[in-house]
This record gives sequence, structure tokens and C-alpha cells, in this order.
Amino acid sequence: MFRGKALGGGSRINGMGYTRSCAADFNRWSDSGRKGWSYTEVEPFFKASEGHLGGIVPKSHGADGPWKTRVLDKLCLKSTVRCAAAIESLGLKIIDDANTPNAPAVTCVKLQLTLDESARRCSTFDAFLPRQIALDRRTHLKICTGTVATSLHVVQGRVMGVSFFEEKADPRRTFYARARKEVVVCCGAIGTPQVLILGGIGPKAHLEELGIPVVKDLPGVGSNLQDHFDVSAMYSIPPKDSFHDIRDRPLRALQEFIKYLDVSPTESLSPADPANPDSTSPDNIPQFEIMPIAFNTTDSELPTGTGVFSFLSVLLRPESSGSVRLRSTDPLEPPKCELNSLTDPASADRAVMRTAVRVSRRIAERMREDGYRMGICVFRRATMTQPWTLSSIRVIARQCIIAQRVAWRLRTTRALGWWTIG
Ligand SMILES: Cc1cc2nc3c(=O)[nH]c(=O)nc-3n(C[C@H](O)[C@H](O)[C@H](O)COP(=O)(O)OP(=O)(O)OC[C@H]3O[C@@H](n4cnc5c(N)ncnc54)[C@H](O)[C@@H]3O)c2cc1C
Repeated sequence: MFRGKALGGGSRINGMGYTRSCAADFNRWSDSGRKGWSYTEVEPFFKASEGHLGGIVPKSHGADGPWKTRVLDKLCLKSTVRCAAAIESLGLKIIDDANTPNAPAVTCVKLQLTLDESARRCSTFDAFLPRQIALDRRTHLKICTGTVATSLHVVQGRVMGVSFFEEKADPRRTFYARARKEVVVCCGAIGTPQVLILGGIGPKAHLEELGIPVVKDLPGVGSNLQDHFDVSAMYSIPPKDSFHDIRDRPLRALQEFIKYLDVSPTESLSPADPANPDSTSPDNIPQFEIMPIAFNTTDSELPTGTGVFSFLSVLLRPESSGSVRLRSTDPLEPPKCELNSLTDPASADRAVMRTAVRVSRRIAERMREDGYRMGICVFRRATMTQPWTLSSIRVIARQCIIAQRVAWRLRTTRALGWWTIG
């Protein structure tokens, strides 16, 4: 599992896509009883934190917040330009902004990225904890880097403090921070259940198996682990239309670096599925996203000189789920994470993924019909030359299992809102 072990966590290494999710996702939470979580109620927080760069700041965005975001105007590779044209000719509307409640549920959009004025990554660390803020607050803010939280100290249902140690120190020195008001556990989808379980808060049977005294039996801790499971379908294209060319040819890399000084090269288009365009309605939440990227999006190595165009199909609302469980009581030992992607037989996960892959193939076919030199579809371990035969559909189904990856947007239940005391 990739995790960002730094101030700013995953935002120091992630894909920088700034996607709030559609309004309907929030409205669904609110409809199910989570007070204060409707899109209208959360939008002011998004706006306050965002510093959208670019001429006109649309109504749903903030201009003055610390987290810099921007949409890159130009699609700099021919393959991506042709892909956008193919998508449009298939009837999908291309819009400028997905992070607004007015965005249709079925759409194609250029990704908004967390990049600053110099096209550099703007992580949550850069945005919310820059050096000056840390210095201004030094009387009441202490940052302990290189430390590992081991457990929470709970007395009569109240969290009184946190134990932690210096990771690299030998011998190991343990510290204790006493809470004056509250403790916020924010160690991510894997680290948070680990800390809770180490402190005796979690599923009783698992705590007993580890020999940890049960402080609170909470079966939800570390359960419902999910990720945006994805499958990549790749096509060979002329190398010059692919990011591989930039990697393989130093002169091209130099040209692109000069362009980068003006515009960073990341580009992505993200169509979603359902028929109804209203993205505020909870029964109309997009099920998948396809990211066309002119690069190898699998873990396999490709030979130098290859040009590749990928359609990365991502499940946005997976129903199958797994769990985070500890292998031992050693806080440094990575927990065991079972994603169980696509395994729930009652879920629509496989059907949705097959549809996403078919849509990808239709876009690729249209690019070819429009005269673009698009090669054959290459999954990780199979090649598909026939467009719509029974065997090619079987290949799609099989590849949804074999060529799977995870999109690293993990989430688990962590019983938040219940245990913030002290
Ligand atoms: C490769 C990759 C690409 C991604 N791309 C995107 C993208 O394009 N767009 C997007 O929106 N999201 C993306 N994500 C997901 C996004 O980065 C995460 O959803 C987000 O960072 C989660 O934030 P968090 O604060 O919950 O947890 P994290 O970012 O994981 O932060 C947790 C922090 O807690 C620390 N920690 C953990 N355990 C302990 C402990 N015991 N003691 C002390 N500290 C601890 C960790 O070191 C880390 O600093 C991506 C993730 C990855 C890995």
C-alpha cells in the first residue's frame, strides 16, 4: 500500500486531482441523517479553503483560500486532443468545471489540480501549515515529526492523551501528550484504525486475538475498507503523442520542460455514467470515471520507444469492501489490508466496471474512425483485436479481475464523531 509518510500525508505524493465529489454524494449523507453534510452546507468550507487560480472565479469556488487549484487550459498532446474530440462526437458534453452542483452527472471535464502559481504541487502541508503559520503559532502548536502514535489513553470513556515514540531513536523513547480539550485522530484510512485498535477500541474478537484489553467494542473500526478500484485498457499510439516520448527522448523532455515553465503537462478527462444529468439528486450519483492518460497506467514495464494511451476506468462507488486488521501489536508493523474489490456477488461492481471498459473501447474506436492511428487494445496480459465478439467480452470480464489496480483513495469506517472527547 502506498502511503505518504510526511507532513501533508498522501497529498505529498498523490495525483493532485481536486475533486469534491458531486453534490448528490453530500446530499445522500444529509438525507441519511448526517446533520450539516448537505452540499449547500459544506460548500462554504470548500470555498474558504480554496484559492482557485485563473481569471474568473466561478460561483462555487474560493479565490482567497490557501489551497491553490487550477485547471490547465491546453491539452498539449495530439492523442488527448483527439480523444476529447472523439468523446464530444459521441455526444458527451465537455464542461469546464466538475466541482459545482450544476455539473451534469454525465460529463467530460478537464481535471482541476492542486497546483500553485508556479505549477508546483500544493499539498495540504503547503496550503495549511506553511513555515510562517507554524512559527506564528509556536506558543501553542508543537509538531513532532519522525514520531509514531501508539495508542490513546482512555479513562472512563474519555480520551485523556496519546502515547508516541521517536521512530528512529535507539533506545526507543516514549512520550505522552495529555489532552486539555480533545484528541483528533487523523492518521488516514489505514493508520487511524491501527491507532484505535492498539488503544483497545475496535472489534472485540480482533482485540482479544491480539491480547489487547478491550476499551470499547466497536466493530466498525477498520471495517468497510474500500478503494476506487480501477482497470486500465491501453492502446498503442505514435510515441510522439505519448508521455513516454518525454521520458525516452532528452530533447523532447527539454522542450516540454520549457513549456512546463508556463503550463504543467498533466491532463485528464473524466466522463461519468448515469443517464439523468441532475448531479444533485442522491439516486443519480455517477458510478464510474474514465481517465484517458497518454501513459502506461499498469504496473508492467513497457519497452523504450513505445507510445501508449490508457483509459483508466475507475469505480466511483464500489460496493464490495474489505478490512484493516493488525498483524501484531507492534505499531511499526504495517496492518493487513484486504480490499476484497469486486468480490461482493450482490453488488453491481463487476457490471459497472464492464460498462466502463466498454465505454473506453467505444471512445478508442471513435478515435480510430476519425483517422487517429490507434493500435490494438492491450490489457496487462491480453490483447483484444475483435471489437464486439463474445470472446472479447469474456476478455473484458477477465481483465476486470486480472488487470485490476487500486486508485489509492482508501477509506474505512473509523467511528468518527463518537470518540472526540478528552
Ligand atoms: C498514489 C496516490 C494517488 C492519489 N491521488 C489522488 C488524487 O489525485 N486526488 C485525490 O483527491 N486523492 C488522491 N489520493 C488520495 C488522497 O491522497 C487521500 O485520500 C488523502 O491524502 C487522505 O488524507 P488523510 O489526511 O485522511 O490521510 P493521509 O494523507 O494518509 O495522512 C495520514 C497521516 O498520518 C500519518 N500517520 C499514520 N499513522 C500514524 C501514526 N501511528 N503515528 C503518527 N502519524 C501517523 C501518516 O504518515 C500521514 O502523514 C491518492 C492517494 C495516493 C496514495
